[in-house]
Amino acid sequence: MEKNTKYVFKFSENVSEGDRTMKALLGGKGANLSEMCGIGLPVPPGFTISTEACAYFNDHNFSWPDALQQQIEQGIRHVENEMGAKFGDPKNPLLVSVRSGATVSMPGMMDTVLNLGINDAVVEGLAKKTNNERFAYDSYRRFIDMFGDVIMGVNHEHFEKVLQDMKTKAGVSTDVELDAGHLKELVDRYKAVYRRKTGFMFPEDPYEQLIYAVNAVFKSWNGARAVKYRNINKIRDLLGTAVNVQAMVYGNMNDSSATGVCFTRNPADGSRALYGEFLINAQGEDVVAGTRTPLPIKQMKEIFPEIYNQLDKYTARLEQHYNDIQDVEFTMQEGRIFILQTRSGQRTGKAAIRIAVDFVEEGIISKEKAICDLVKPLHLDQLLHKQFAVTNGSPPYVIGTGLAASPGAAVGKVVFDADLAEEAFNRGEKVILVRVETSPEDVGGMSASEGVLTSRGGMTSHAAVVARGWGKPCVSGCGDIIINYKQKSFTNGDITVKEGDWISIDGTTGQVMNGEQALTDPGFDEYYYLFMQWVDEARNMQVRANADTLADAVKALEYGAEGIGLARTEHMFFAPERITAIRRMIISETSAERSEALTKLLPYQKADFKEIFRVMNGRPVTIRLLDPPLNEFLPTEDDEIIHVSEDLGISAKLLKHKIQNLKEVNPMLGHRGCRLGIVYPEITIMQTRAILEAAVELQNEDITVRPEIMVPLIGAVSEFIHQKNLILDEANKIFYEKGSKVDIKIGTMIEVPRAALTASSIAEHADFFSFGTNDLTQTTLAYSRDDTARFLGFYLTHGILKEDPFMVIDREGVGRLITLAAKEGRKMKPELKIGICGEHGGDPDSIKFFYENDLDYVSCSPYRLPLARLALAQVHLNKTAVGAMA
Ligand code: PEP
Ligand code: MG
Repeated sequence: MEKNTKYVFKFSENVSEGDRTMKALLGGKGANLSEMCGIGLPVPPGFTISTEACAYFNDHNFSWPDALQQQIEQGIRHVENEMGAKFGDPKNPLLVSVRSGATVSMPGMMDTVLNLGINDAVVEGLAKKTNNERFAYDSYRRFIDMFGDVIMGVNHEHFEKVLQDMKTKAGVSTDVELDAGHLKELVDRYKAVYRRKTGFMFPEDPYEQLIYAVNAVFKSWNGARAVKYRNINKIRDLLGTAVNVQAMVYGNMNDSSATGVCFTRNPADGSRALYGEFLINAQGEDVVAGTRTPLPIKQMKEIFPEIYNQLDKYTARLEQHYNDIQDVEFTMQEGRIFILQTRSGQRTGKAAIRIAVDFVEEGIISKEKAICDLVKPLHLDQLLHKQFAVTNGSPPYVIGTGLAASPGAAVGKVVFDADLAEEAFNRGEKVILVRVETSPEDVGGMSASEGVLTSRGGMTSHAAVVARGWGKPCVSGCGDIIINYKQKSFTNGDITVKEGDWISIDGTTGQVMNGEQALTDPGFDEYYYLFMQWVDEARNMQVRANADTLADAVKALEYGAEGIGLARTEHMFFAPERITAIRRMIISETSAERSEALTKLLPYQKADFKEIFRVMNGRPVTIRLLDPPLNEFLPTEDDEIIHVSEDLGISAKLLKHKIQNLKEVNPMLGHRGCRLGIVYPEITIMQTRAILEAAVELQNEDITVRPEIMVPLIGAVSEFIHQKNLILDEANKIFYEKGSKVDIKIGTMIEVPRAALTASSIAEHADFFSFGTNDLTQTTLAYSRDDTARFLGFYLTHGILKEDPFMVIDREGVGRLITLAAKEGRKMKPELKIGICGEHGGDPDSIKFFYENDLDYVSCSPYRLPLARLALAQVHLNKTAVGAMA
């Protein structure tokens, strides 16, 4: 079968636009190269070896399908024809680059080899042909280094050491100062390193070099760092990586050659201008590795105006073609520009929104497309990132300034090692990873850190690109500091910062400060408000917030809440003056004692509800009756028990005895939820009174109130009826006493499988359902919410579960109960209002599921509201308006 399979595709072959199958087959880079050829950009010729070939290789014990070798040879002949040069021919040599390219962009993850095809004979030919011996030997020594490092696993450091020695010997400080003689000697010394470390001679045959390189790319798909990156980013179900073989063009030929990377717009704030950097007389890896500090692209306008204009024209064409900002790699060879690759540009949340708005206003895309394609829920999440607070105290001491590589503020203890960062994270500590520069091996530690600080590297260095993609604050290229890994410290003049010391970094300004600076929430700009207006026009499901306090409610409104979907009343009890009252209620022996203690709580609860109703001003507010097991309000430590017993005026012995009596093996399945209000009806009565007195009094002030009283953890309809009757009785008393009434709704949470299974009979009595998916997940999977850590991490890394069910709804199990309960509830009562208020209400995947089940609203924490609004707009547009989208 493989015989007839086409594994090799020329860039110049016709690839139909936006064809996902071709992207899956050719990888993102390969598909883009092909598309770029199609729109007339100056792309060096080449071909792509498909992801299917990689899958075959990894599935068949590192062997190639029969047809592959011949197809690669044909590909090389095609490139030879296009370039008018020959692979391995010393008189007229063709050199190629070999790069990986998976379907999904994985910056820095896979390996690249440049200058392949060079050997002792070819280097001489190259020197003659280009009339530049220095350039030829520089290319050769770079190739031996890369080939050794990437393909044979000889650490780059060994070559680097030899290079440093050579520079010292030559009395120069930079690579470009080495002359052809030095480089020639360097080639011999690199070869000796290669031979010593691998035990083999350096391969002279270009085809042999090519086979090694292709295999190395195939293998790197399953390398530890690539697998880790895919796991962190949840990249799954891909075949493998494609391999792109492309004619080399040279940015290091002379001073009218250069290499660079640029974004078509500013990826930090989205503003309209080419953004990036370039290096004269250098190759691509010098820019990406951040080992030499490049010039900003603006300077290209002055130094090479004609090239700059061409770049501007080509990048605009790319943006129009892909309907997105592009991250473009280019090379200028002796005054001629080549576009090497393009991909969709990683950007900050702030930039994503500005770009989406500008694209719509520039007429490039429709609003619908901007909402669906240009802004991801995670971008909005980033907008909520913390900033440093402006304090009245003494200003922070700035210990260094670098590039503002990824915005947001972060505070943590310094670690210099990525593994240590991961360990600290697992212990629950906040750390800042400080490195000279980062590499793909560091991604786990970067992910575990609050922020990243590097002393070297530009805006497109590894640290900067990865951090921006994750929305993690990053300061890169902070040359003010000198890092000493051995001594586990960094210095700036007299200042020394050691491992474990607190620092604060500001990825928006590039500043590094000592100590632990206070953080605040960010604000939104005009682009955000306009974009979110479009988002709100595009969705058909409501969003509410889980908000327990006035401050939460204010934040919720600011972030777009249309009501409160869950006010957890117990959170109001933890203030010092209230906790004693609830504790007194808990230790009561009689109903009269309990009522008396509760009476003390009533004014507090009522005042809280009044504040919330007032600020919500006519929007629905769902208040849940007391839910948690009562032991959560009691002390556990001996010292505390003594202190609380004094507070309550009882002996410590008696309090201990009471605590002992309340102890449950699994309190989450014990005396909690509606079971509290049933055994101690005084609680329900007091809370009903607090809610409704607040509501009636506000209504008398002409403020519209829409209270919804929610009974937690119902399993049997009889439990609900019991509580509903209590609420109604108390409500009628209050309405009678006050001489006026308010409209109330009485509903329940569905968070026990039995409630979901008997939804029809519960719906007969309830005005609304709200899925408590936290408890519903706990009770359906029989996983305790509080101690899954012991096995869940293992389950996820070993593929027993694909997602944490407490974060992403388990569609097959918990989801099935939701579908059933929603359907049967609505069948019984078509006007039944149904929402969800578990953590899943702020998760984009789960939101999609709730939309598919026709729920009326999702309720989530205020900070996740913008994300939920966007996710709802996207799912609705994708379902209804895709056809209409331009
Ligand atoms: C739930 O169980 O999903 C819920 C929202 O309630 P809590 O998290 O307070 O138990
Ligand atoms: Mg619950």
